[in-house]
Amino acid sequence: MNCFNVGSISQYGGRAGKLRLPSGVVVETPMFMPVATKMSVKTLDPRELKETGTRSLITNGFLLSLEPGSDVIRSLGGMHSMMDWDGGIFSDSGGFQFIRKGFDANILEEGVHLRSPFTGVKVFVTPESVVDMHIRHGVDVGMVLDHCPPFPSTRAQTIDSVNRTVYWAKRSKLRAGADGMEEMLPEGRSMPLFFAITQGGVEKDLREECTRKLVEMDFPGYGIGGLSIGESKEDMFRSLGSSTSLIPEDRPRYFMGVGDPDAVVRSVLSGVDVFDSVFPTRNARHRSVFTHEGRENIRAAKWRGIDSPIMEDCDCSVCKRFSRGYMYHLFKAEEPLGPRLATIHNVHYLQELVKRIRIKIIENELDPRISAAEIMG
Ligand SMILES: [Zn+2]
Repeated sequence: MNCFNVGSISQYGGRAGKLRLPSGVVVETPMFMPVATKMSVKTLDPRELKETGTRSLITNGFLLSLEPGSDVIRSLGGMHSMMDWDGGIFSDSGGFQFIRKGFDANILEEGVHLRSPFTGVKVFVTPESVVDMHIRHGVDVGMVLDHCPPFPSTRAQTIDSVNRTVYWAKRSKLRAGADGMEEMLPEGRSMPLFFAITQGGVEKDLREECTRKLVEMDFPGYGIGGLSIGESKEDMFRSLGSSTSLIPEDRPRYFMGVGDPDAVVRSVLSGVDVFDSVFPTRNARHRSVFTHEGRENIRAAKWRGIDSPIMEDCDCSVCKRFSRGYMYHLFKAEEPLGPRLATIHNVHYLQELVKRIRIKIIENELDPRISAAEIMG
């Protein structure tokens, strides 16, 4: 059965749909997922996260397989159980990590040799081991192993990464469909959905080739990867369009690593359904909050002693209770409550934004020139 239904498509391309996850959770799209790299959205209790309107989050399965380790996660009932989280859990494969320093990654056809940054132990990651890992963690959606080229890359490097991404996706698909895989699940969990990730850098023909080949393999959903890593905005949206235009209408399209409010609006118009980003949470911890005026610095002198909420008309639990003056004080005094309250507000802002975008799509009123601030106004 298909996991995704598109209910409405606006005249400019935005889609409002419903995504059914293996754990039984149904999430409305467009949707935004906060990042819980290590099974924690930094500073928040999952109950607080739920109150922000969040229905699904994304963890980094690869990092978590190193520490605390997949055996521990499985024996504690899987990620949902450990986090006491009844929403959706997507999980990343680690492909993106390999372009970062600190892993000593050596990428071969067979898989990736690397060194755990936690223990120094050498690890060999393959498309098959990543599929097994997601099953052992009991997640809803596991991203298959891909090869993300660094930015900038030569054309030869990008071709190489497309070929390897396609080859690894094929192996992942075979592994996920093998007999007896359910036996690796934590008790009471269902088999994850496996989404492929399209690569191809900012080169139109390579993006298209990669997407087309992955679509031929018929995955239940597709991540659009390798963007928002240093290329210009124009290159990013052009490349995004090269991918989304080739993904079948009944498959969810997940733009990985994008959470800037205006980029979210524009991406929805390009046909994106799912987002994740550290943007709202990282900004909150660095005292930057979303308001009607864009992003504002909580420590700005004008916030001192002000008896109004972070954002007028915001119905998050923070704006209903606390003043700008109190937020200013908490950050100045370096109290841990400050980053936590700012995180609640920022995540709520993104959830409210995607909710309003969804309503506009259903009412066919999503104007392609509209900004996030206007939608939230
Ligand atoms: Zn608020």
